[in-house]
Amino acid sequence: MTLEELYKDLHAHPELAFAEHRTANIAAGWLDAAGFSVRTGIGGTGVAGVLRNGDGPTVLLRADMDALPVREETGLDYASDVVATDARGERTHVMHACGHDMHVACLCGVADELVRARDDWQGTVIAVFQPAEEIGAGARAMLADGLFDVTGVPDVALGQHVFARTAGTVLHRAGPFLGAAESWDVTLHGRGGHGSRPERTVDPVVMAAAAVLRLQTLVARELAPAERGVVTVSRLRAGHAENVIPDTARFDATIRTFSEEVRDLVARGTVRVCEGIAAAHGLEVDAVYTPQYPVTVNDGPEAAFAGETVTEMFGGDAFVPMANPVTGAEDFSRIIAEVPGAMLFLSAVPPGADYESLPNNHSQYAVFDDGVLGAGAALYAGLALRRLAAEAQASA
Ligand code: ZN
Ligand code: ZN
Repeated sequence: MTLEELYKDLHAHPELAFAEHRTANIAAGWLDAAGFSVRTGIGGTGVAGVLRNGDGPTVLLRADMDALPVREETGLDYASDVVATDARGERTHVMHACGHDMHVACLCGVADELVRARDDWQGTVIAVFQPAEEIGAGARAMLADGLFDVTGVPDVALGQHVFARTAGTVLHRAGPFLGAAESWDVTLHGRGGHGSRPERTVDPVVMAAAAVLRLQTLVARELAPAERGVVTVSRLRAGHAENVIPDTARFDATIRTFSEEVRDLVARGTVRVCEGIAAAHGLEVDAVYTPQYPVTVNDGPEAAFAGETVTEMFGGDAFVPMANPVTGAEDFSRIIAEVPGAMLFLSAVPPGADYESLPNNHSQYAVFDDGVLGAGAALYAGLALRRLAAEAQASA
């Protein structure tokens, strides 16, 4: 099976967070066939393969496996029509709208490449296929389940994510690379009744609408202009019929920040806004806060090394230093909080395409160019090979 065939198969069979059983089986089978020693079921559906090749440092490479509760509308001939039950028990369509299928295929390609090139390097490579990145829980689960006890503690951990920028480029920066993310699950308790008699009810839909709008002013009016933050209410549910005012309205918000101070300010503001709006109606609110992702911070020397590797492999034009971190978040941050490491963005838009106008990660229309699978695998393999070859020479 080619990497392209593997990618299309994974794309057509997406699985939600912690339900990546098929994907994990495929990854484990691929690593096993390549000659890695494989352990499955780490932190749920996580897979780790270890390839020892003499004395030397240990490099960890990570791919995330999970897909999103999105109904695919790409029209691709290998598009997903999968429907699954999510963790809340609700039926949902499932789509690889974030390119994790490409990450899995790339890392499988890397495994083959490292085995082929084993005379050129010395040390240990760990390939990690991680569950549940999209809910910020998979890396934590694998670490808590003793990932490093199984694999040994790596000297460096590397991750990559497909991204929409000029085709053929790799984006990177030292220091903060991606934001911190927290989620809020807010339930506003009103008093339902007949839709024609609002005076006998307290309408939680109106309360929710007010809260959603007021939350936007946390960033617009309470953060200093030089600070960065995002508040997005992305799920809003209330009621079942147009003539019944429901008892409750519920919404979920994601909050992205780059420092603890800003995170705390926005978190306190979220509680204040929700409680204030509920209090104005004399009613209750439950606001459940879940920290999901710490800030992803790239190690300085590892980031510089990765930049040099990209330039050496693909030429200077391919390497794009990022002026600012991106407001997305990654739970790879938890792995590189434990050991030095770095993450890169690999552009996966078709050559010549205007990336600004293309649907982006998490869109039901997002299409990633499978033409970059080879480059993605080569980049990952190159990072490991160059690191292990350099160390082999240094220690010789
Ligand atoms: Zn994503
Ligand atoms: Zn992703």
